[in-house]
Amino acid sequence: MTQRMSLKDAAGITPARNQGPKCSVGSAIEEMDAEDRAQLDDWLAMPLKDMAHSRLTRILRTAGFKVGADAVARHRNGGCACRND
Ligand SMILES: [Zn+2]
Repeated sequence: MTQRMSLKDAAGITPARNQGPKCSVGSAIEEMDAEDRAQLDDWLAMPLKDMAHSRLTRILRTAGFKVGADAVARHRNGGCACRND
């Protein structure tokens, strides 16, 4: 049987929020000018039915940013390291 720590021990050493570098979406935002940032903020805040992750991903990729749909979804849901920075 493989030795592993208990979930309680894991919880004790796991940061409350994600740490590390920003995700690819956060990195893209850092490269944007104010106008693009404002536009992206608007889109990120839109309901999924009006701006799906996949469409937003394609727009960003068309504009030259290397982002994946997973990263867009995670960033939008606050599951990435950009949150609360
Ligand atoms: Zn992010």
